[in-house]
Amino acid sequence: MRREASERQAAMSQKSETPSGGDIYQLLLEASKKKRREKRAQLLQPLGIKEFFEEGSISIDKRTCEGVECKLCIEACPTNALYWKSGEVGIVEELCVFCTACVSNCIVDNCIQVSRRRPDGETERFSTPSDVLTLLNAIGSKKRVDVIKSRFPPMEAYLKMYG
Ligand code: SF4
Ligand code: SF4
Repeated sequence: MRREASERQAAMSQKSETPSGGDIYQLLLEASKKKRREKRAQLLQPLGIKEFFEEGSISIDKRTCEGVECKLCIEACPTNALYWKSGEVGIVEELCVFCTACVSNCIVDNCIQVSRRRPDGETERFSTPSDVLTLLNAIGSKKRVDVIKSRFPPMEAYLKMYG
């Protein structure tokens, strides 16, 4: 009787150590992400391009793309992730570093969609040149504020001087 109980207990603990369906799916997902990252690093290294965003996605709406009349995104892409393939713009996802140069140059709003995860975990999405400009303006403003702060005394010091 005691033996049966201990066998049951051993079987249960073995079962709890075996990954569940969800865990297996997660492991496979992590493995495929790792493989993709390694392939990207391999492809980008000869181009001397540094990656700032580990994760992201890019898509092009074929219904609104001006295609052969335009091709501006292909010219703008620094990594050759975009190319012309049998009547449409093709994407080599492993080469995309989510820089948004293609979005900035696209003549059709919401045709190219780029999303990327920042190192701080926040996700940014861009689908029009103004989305990119808004971010650049925000970065520029922050830099201006940082420079002003570094070159001038803080407000409290001014208040002490003139208050
Ligand atoms: S986001 Fe940058 S790297 Fe990716 S396809 Fe567009 S231009 Fe090329
Ligand atoms: S820039 Fe935009 S409209 Fe022009 S080819 Fe690229 S995706 Fe199409």
